[in-house]
Amino acid sequence: MIAAERLPAGSIATPVAVAHGDGIGPEIMEATLAVLAAAGARLDLRPIEIGERVYRAGVSSGIDEPALATLAQTRVLLKAPITTPQGGGYKSLNVTIRKMFGLYANVRPCRALAPYVHTLHPAMDVVIVRENEEDVYGGIEHRQTADVTQCLKLITRTGTERIIRYAFEYARANGRKRVTCFSKDNIMKITDGLFHAIFEEVATEYPEIACEHLIVDIGAAKLAVNPERFDVIVLPNLYGDILSDVAAELAGSVGMAGSANIGDGLAMFEAIHGSAPDIAGTGIANPSGLLNAAVMMLAHIGQSEVAQRVQNAWLRTIEDGFHTRDIYGTQSARCLSTAEFADAIIERLGSSPRHLRAPALASAVDTAHIANATAKPAAHKERIGVDVFIDFTDGNASDLAQRLLAATRECGLDLAMITNRGTQVWPRASEMTRCVDHWRCRFTGAAPVSGTTVVKLLASIESAGLEAIKTEGLYTFDGKPGFSLGQGQ
Ligand code: ATP
Repeated sequence: MIAAERLPAGSIATPVAVAHGDGIGPEIMEATLAVLAAAGARLDLRPIEIGERVYRAGVSSGIDEPALATLAQTRVLLKAPITTPQGGGYKSLNVTIRKMFGLYANVRPCRALAPYVHTLHPAMDVVIVRENEEDVYGGIEHRQTADVTQCLKLITRTGTERIIRYAFEYARANGRKRVTCFSKDNIMKITDGLFHAIFEEVATEYPEIACEHLIVDIGAAKLAVNPERFDVIVLPNLYGDILSDVAAELAGSVGMAGSANIGDGLAMFEAIHGSAPDIAGTGIANPSGLLNAAVMMLAHIGQSEVAQRVQNAWLRTIEDGFHTRDIYGTQSARCLSTAEFADAIIERLGSSPRHLRAPALASAVDTAHIANATAKPAAHKERIGVDVFIDFTDGNASDLAQRLLAATRECGLDLAMITNRGTQVWPRASEMTRCVDHWRCRFTGAAPVSGTTVVKLLASIESAGLEAIKTEGLYTFDGKPGFSLGQGQ
């Protein structure tokens, strides 16, 4: 990030790449930039073109090299929504930027603005901090048999430490009192278990901030019914993807919320809504989502006082009942166009809301502290066996076991168990277990089991006419198993 100390008041303008996007993008960007300029934001704007025109020009990622070079220079991007053309193998622009620049944290404040914007939860004020790079979003998927497909869920210590620390640093910088972690570690004891364990570990470094952990299902239920009880919520990627939309909807402000994507190399700020082609060009779009993203950007680049001015004026405009059509209702005074709404905010720069709380945007999140976090020393790792996954349709578990036992007698590894869809089906089985063509066969031996032993095992399996579709090593780390047991084992 661009450190605040490099921005002496009133002098240096921070370079910011600006993408006007598609659909309503150009209209809401123009309105947002007008407000920022009037508020005295010190920005050196560098326009880039991304999105539909770039896709149609044959760039499958929607962003070309010159634009990427600008991002590498500015390291900050204010982005309006874009349209991804249907079909034609176009890749998600957001995923490309996220991966290229290591944007590990997605931050989405979801705040009710009752009674000015309708919501069932007037006191709701939740910030969702979603891990952005890992989990099932690596896109590592395989079809392994006629029947079975698989998606790899990756949770790393490094990635988890970063997102959990970011959540606590965010809470500290923004005067938040509690961080709640959601995971499903009662089922995914190793992956979600790591996420939860690191949460508990990192929480001890922030004694002034309360911490709690909830299983994601009950956490989601509590969020839906009583979002007021939450402050900051940190989650792995998939749960965060789903629940950040739920939270925005609950706050009643899907069209008004902004979000930040934070990484060491770049920070990207955008509205959470899409390019709304249905209303593009009509001048009625609400620029609040992008404006709120810009407020987060100003805080991020160390211009918190400008961020505060913009936020206060925006809240006052909403309070005064000056609304765009999407939020216009009985509580509104006037229905404004996009440009008129921006003008109304500009007129109120310097004033504060009378009723709505204006959260302090005092300081930027200390991302340097996150980047410098020390990794845990490596554990002693030892292979004690291997799981071999076999595509088998010529019989039941016991038939497969007999063929494996006969084929692998000389391999130095013992067949310990077979599972089907995770449930043990050999040596013990329930008659009720319905089996598919995808069998996990666990072989164990005297540690350390060498790679050569595993290769010999695989060759024996192949010679018996069986098809091994993949293997997973069974490792211990400082003597503790790094793999799950079969259900029923
Ligand atoms: P995407 O898949 O790109 O996120 P989407 O299909 O979810 O897009 P949006 O583009 O977010 O849809 O629009 C959903 C609805 O909300 C549309 O009817 C649109 O007109 C409306 N909408 C979205 N953003 C705004 C806005 N800023 N102001 C007013 N209406 C909006």
